[in-house]
Amino acid sequence: MTKLYLAIPCYNEEEVLRDSAEKLLKKYNAMMSEGKITSDSKIVFIDDGSKDKTWEIISKLHAENTVFQGIKLSRNRGHQNALLCGLMTLKDKADAVISIDADLQDDINTFDAMVEKFEEGSDVVYGVRSKRETDTFFKRFTAEAFYKILNKMGAKVIFNHADFRLMSRRALNAFAEYKETNIFLRGMVPLVGYKSDVVTYERFERLAGESKYPLKKMLALAWEGITSLSTQPIRMITWLGGIVFAISIIMVIYSLISYFIGAAKDGWASTLCSIWAIGGLQLLAIGIIGEYIGKIYLETKNRPRYIVEEFLED
Ligand code: UDP
Ligand code: MG
Repeated sequence: MTKLYLAIPCYNEEEVLRDSAEKLLKKYNAMMSEGKITSDSKIVFIDDGSKDKTWEIISKLHAENTVFQGIKLSRNRGHQNALLCGLMTLKDKADAVISIDADLQDDINTFDAMVEKFEEGSDVVYGVRSKRETDTFFKRFTAEAFYKILNKMGAKVIFNHADFRLMSRRALNAFAEYKETNIFLRGMVPLVGYKSDVVTYERFERLAGESKYPLKKMLALAWEGITSLSTQPIRMITWLGGIVFAISIIMVIYSLISYFIGAAKDGWASTLCSIWAIGGLQLLAIGIIGEYIGKIYLETKNRPRYIVEEFLED
C-alpha cells in the first residue's frame, strides 16, 4: 500500500475549494477502503498568499478532518513556487506525492492508475491530456506550439503534460538537488531520470471561479520555460551573425563587380560593404560573448551532475 500525499497549490480559490475538497475526500475514502493507499495518506493545500477566504477554508477543513493539511505561504509567489514548496515540504513524509490544481480540471480518477504505475516501479508518472476539447482554440494552439518550440530548443518536456504528476520519494529527493531559483517544473522533472511512465486522461473545465493564469502569466511561464532550460536563443544570435557576415561577403563581390563594370557611384561600394560587415561582426561578437554568459548561467544553477540509481556493491 502506498502512503500518498496530494500537493495542491491554491490562489484565491474560495469558489472551488469546498467542492474540490469534498470530491478529493470521497476519492481518498474509496482508495483507502480498496486498500490502495494507507489510512494516514493526506491531502495538502498550499495557500499561495491568497487575498480571499482560501486560508480560512483550508483551516476549517483541517479542523474538520485531519486528512486535510495546509501550508500557507507568506505572500503570493506564483504557482510553480507554491507547488515546489509543497513537494519539498512533503518529500520525506510520503511514499509518493501527486501534484494537482485546486480546480480539479485534471481527472482525479487517474490517481488509481498513477499509484498502480508507481507500485510497479515507476518513480515519475506523468499525467498527459488526451484531448484539449475543453480549451479554446487559442489556448490549444498556443499551448501545443509552446511544447513543440521547447522541444526544438532542446528542453525535453512531455507533450501535453502540465503539472499533474506523481513523484516517488526517491524522485523528489533527487529533485531537491536542483537548487536553481528560476524554475519550470515540468521541464526539470525529466532531468532527474529514473523510470517514468505516462497515464492519459481527459481534462475537464474549471469547476468554478476564473483561471488564475491570464495570458500575461502564461507568456511569462512560457518565457521562463525557454530561458531556464535552454541557452539556444544565444546560439541563434551567433548564427544570425554568421549569416549576416556571409551576406557581407556576397555584397563585397557584388559591389566589386558593379565597380569594375562602371555601374557604381563613388563611395557606394565601400559604404555598403562596411555596413554589412560591421553588422555581421557585431552580432557574431555578441553571440560569442553570449555563449560564455550561457555557460556561466548553467554553472550558477549548480545542478547535480549525476544521480545514482543503483549501486551493486560487494
Ligand atoms: N495558482 C497559484 N498561484 C498563482 C496562480 C495560480 O497557486 O499565482 C494555482 C491555482 O490556484 C490553481 C493552479 O495554480 O490551483 C492552476 O491555476 P489555474 O487553474 O487558474 O490555471 P489554468 O488551469 O487556467 O491554466
Ligand atoms: Mg485550471
